[in-house]
Amino acid sequence: MSSFTDAVARRRTFAIISHPDAGKTTITEKLLLLGQLIQVAGTVKGKKSDRHATSDWMSMEQERGISVTSSVMQFPYKERMVNLLDTPGHEDFSEDTYRTLTAVDSALMVIDGAKGVEDRTIKLMNVCRLRDTPILSFVNKMDRDIRDPIELLDEVESVLGIAAAPINWPMGMGSEFKGVYNLYTDTLHVFKPGQNKVIAEDIQINGLESEEAKNLLGDMHEDFIDEIELVRGASHEFDLEAYREGKLTPVFFGTALANFGVREMLDGFVEWAPAPLPRATENRQVEATEEKFSGFVFKIQANMDPRHRDRIAFLRICSGKYTKGLKMRHVRLGKDVKIADAVSFVAGDRELVEEAMSGDIIGLHNHGTIQLGDTFTEGEELKFTGIPHFAPELFKRIRLRDPMKSKQLQKGLQQLAEEGSTQVFMPLNNSDLIVGAVGVLQFEVVAYRLKDEYKVEAIYEPVNVHTVRWVECKDAKKLEEFKRKCSDNLALDGGGHLTYLAPTRVNLQLTQERYPDIEFFSTREH
Ligand code: GDP
Repeated sequence: MSSFTDAVARRRTFAIISHPDAGKTTITEKLLLLGQLIQVAGTVKGKKSDRHATSDWMSMEQERGISVTSSVMQFPYKERMVNLLDTPGHEDFSEDTYRTLTAVDSALMVIDGAKGVEDRTIKLMNVCRLRDTPILSFVNKMDRDIRDPIELLDEVESVLGIAAAPINWPMGMGSEFKGVYNLYTDTLHVFKPGQNKVIAEDIQINGLESEEAKNLLGDMHEDFIDEIELVRGASHEFDLEAYREGKLTPVFFGTALANFGVREMLDGFVEWAPAPLPRATENRQVEATEEKFSGFVFKIQANMDPRHRDRIAFLRICSGKYTKGLKMRHVRLGKDVKIADAVSFVAGDRELVEEAMSGDIIGLHNHGTIQLGDTFTEGEELKFTGIPHFAPELFKRIRLRDPMKSKQLQKGLQQLAEEGSTQVFMPLNNSDLIVGAVGVLQFEVVAYRLKDEYKVEAIYEPVNVHTVRWVECKDAKKLEEFKRKCSDNLALDGGGHLTYLAPTRVNLQLTQERYPDIEFFSTREH
């Protein structure tokens, strides 16, 4: 293997999926501790910490106690290079999360052991399933009285439709939590409280039948042996291939807060998780080990640094290498650009990238020319597919307090739409501006940012739109007729694509029945 293919094979790029409060932030912190990006837990990205209050926008985020920005963390661990893509925790930013999931090769699913499989996890799993993303699971909060672990695994299997293979099994829970038992190595990993801020000692006991194990488990010992027998009989065995195909999830137990079990999980993760996978383009499949550079933009974030008022486009490298000064083709524009100032993000701070390769994420400075989904290559005309714009579920008409500022409003909305913070629709028959969002909070954020960053005060009014569909028709004549007859419901989105704004579900259904030649899509890319 060349040193390049070898380095690519070591990469592990993933994101965490979970329901808010399951423990994603806490686990992230413990992973950074293990990756030695931080020395003491409690110093990074604490929701209440002001270390990253680098913009007013972020201060709003902090006031609300939610994490809506996402960054990329890279750290070496056991001969591997791990890229963890943070995803916004709040439900209202799910679109951003969905797109981030298109840029990873696998995901870690965190489940609150007391609550089991929750709504948002179900939604995110559905997105992962679109690409059969391999999922590794971590059942968190073993330091509390959680639900019966067997029942939890049943729930994962029945609700999420994926086989669950426990790798280790919890020894007790809550105040009786003693650690985890590895079903494959017959090793007990002993929980020692009070080590939550540093890399915890790994205390191991070999053999469940050993004297030490008996001493550790005391009265629980016999019952635990029975339980393990039951678990072995009733659960799936780990199968690497099934995991890689997204059909089976290996499950680890632990407590992120007390810093236990995360290391065991990470050890399994770097061992089994896939190296950068091939990616589909409209033209052909691109292998991660190809030497020529290619990648796509999955996220755009404006004004990350208020001193520069810039926008960063996050690009996932799919093949080849970026080195400073690389000449890239911005395929959509058919333009060659020399990039010498790509950045990486280390827990909020940015640095110039010297070199990055398949699986890594780099940030490109965007002066308004880069859009979500854009492909960059070393010259080849490729277009990566599958970076979706999802149909928003909530709509409002946006109006200015000061009508003189309509230019700024347009510009602001367009930029916010470009980075995927919202979607804009411009009806064909009037000069309204309709904003679409996946969650209510998104509207607030858009208004706040319009005011803060573009100096326009906008107000929302209700609008009679229930859902939106992107429309297409192969037959130009039929499309014209449809446009004529339905013009009152038609609009262009921020990218100039034709959309149908349906006032009700029934209306959409009837329209679809009436115009069988028109295709209605619930994502812009299909
Ligand atoms: P996120 O919303 O998924 O990022 O969740 P956080 O990491 O912020 O955790 C939500 C809450 O659960 C916080 O109060 C954490 O301190 C708490 N928490 C996280 N992990 C554990 C754990 O293992 N045990 C207990 N008891 N609490 C935890």
